[in-house]
Amino acid sequence: MAFIITSPCIGEKAADCVETCPVDAIHEGEDQYYIDPDTCIDCGACEAVCPVAAIFQEDFVPDEEKSFIQKNADFFK
Ligand code: SF4
Repeated sequence: MAFIITSPCIGEKAADCVETCPVDAIHEGEDQYYIDPDTCIDCGACEAVCPVAAIFQEDFVPDEEKSFIQKNADFFK
């Protein structure tokens, strides 16, 4: 289980989460940030600081944002 960054990050990339993550799990992609599921310790700190509410625990990603689970996985292939 990990946290997932969804569409509000695109074009925003505020990066508050990057500085907040205690284990440096959040990596910059071309259009958004991504969370490395192998590094994430599920602390929830990033979700709390995201100014555009783009971050969800995987089980709570809204239906219309579920494609970001695969997009995130693809980034770390
Ligand atoms: Fe980092 Fe915690 Fe967010 Fe995982 S849930 S990416 S460990 S801040």
